[in-house]
Amino acid sequence: MRFLPEQPNRKIGSQQVIKEDNIKLLFNLVRQNEEISRAELVRITKLSPTTVSTLVDELLQENLLMESGFGTSDMPGRKPINLRIRAEGRQIPVFSLSRWGVTYTLYDLNSNEIETCFVEHLSDQYGGFDSLSGLDPDSGDDYCNIIYDIFVNKAKHIDYDKVVAVCITYPGLYLEKEQMLSYSAMRAGIKLDALKRLRKRLSLPLFFGNSSMCLAYAEKNTLARMGKMVNDLIYINVTDGVGAGIVYKNQVMMGSDSSAGEIGHVSIDYRGKLCPCGNRGCLEQYVNTHVIVKTARKLIEENKDDEILASFLEHYEDVTLEFLAKAYEKGVPVIRQYLQDIARMLYAGINNIVCITGIKQVVLGGGIERLGPGFLSELLLQAEDNGNSFLMKDVSISYATSGEKGDSIGITEYFIENVFTISL
Ligand SMILES: [Zn+2]
Repeated sequence: MRFLPEQPNRKIGSQQVIKEDNIKLLFNLVRQNEEISRAELVRITKLSPTTVSTLVDELLQENLLMESGFGTSDMPGRKPINLRIRAEGRQIPVFSLSRWGVTYTLYDLNSNEIETCFVEHLSDQYGGFDSLSGLDPDSGDDYCNIIYDIFVNKAKHIDYDKVVAVCITYPGLYLEKEQMLSYSAMRAGIKLDALKRLRKRLSLPLFFGNSSMCLAYAEKNTLARMGKMVNDLIYINVTDGVGAGIVYKNQVMMGSDSSAGEIGHVSIDYRGKLCPCGNRGCLEQYVNTHVIVKTARKLIEENKDDEILASFLEHYEDVTLEFLAKAYEKGVPVIRQYLQDIARMLYAGINNIVCITGIKQVVLGGGIERLGPGFLSELLLQAEDNGNSFLMKDVSISYATSGEKGDSIGITEYFIENVFTISL
């Protein structure tokens, strides 16, 4: 996560900082509670009624809150007036970069989607991992041009005065020394200079963050909305690579070069396949959605005489993750065996990361969930078989609930809750 403010930070007095902390606290509380009265804000924050009243007035004036009718009270007398977020008061345009292109989504303050579009831009054209050596890193101007073009020409509902920052998610690392977003799954780089030029052209602050970290943050919030408060969580993002985002004490864990959570490069076999990262037996060499489908097609071809398989498979091209979920349910032996193997390998990776972090809430997403409940039960069986391991005791493994756009929603909510300032 990295913020490029429009102006360099001004010197701020401690009084201003205290005021900002308080006004932001009130704003976040209203946002979390949907509807809340001033009296309840006083009770929760222990700020004085006068302070709460003054700061709420400022939030109303700034079009960040609105009054929404009367609430209930046990006390006799006047009923309290409830406060809500004025969702349309601000906008956050998000650009989610992937191997296939750029997805644009515009959100309001309650992370409601206002509009969206996708512009194809295949990053494989940059040569990919294999030809990385000697390749001059791409400047990233192409991505910045696409973002600029969407913002200025394709978007229909952006109200410039309401935009608080332009957010960008990307499936890679930010390399501090090289001052660029690195290739990784995107197979392209974006230099910080290009992002700074984009900021200048848009005259808006930029905020960018790693996709898996954003997914983890979105998942934490989604679970909270479902009544399950978690402060720590590991989101394992299994797509055609494997990444992870870690939320620890409600904050995203980053590490230097924002490389925390690179579970894809945790080795599950020190004599295994050589990985482009230089390590051997990296998890993502065996467990990624591309390899799973490719291996399954080969296994099915070798076992095409299987009666159950023959009953519902017409073409090998039909083999998708969903197909494998179905084949598992129908009890096709070779697929059951294969999904068990994947579960074992993935579990080995999960075991490593849980042992290192001590975080017990593990969520899987990014595509692997398309393998269905059968695969998840195989993973949980691994955990049961491993029941003697006190380090893995009480580990919860589930599929993600934050949906396909978790990365866009995650960066929006992270920005609003942690970066967005109101009075400074
Ligand atoms: Zn590796």
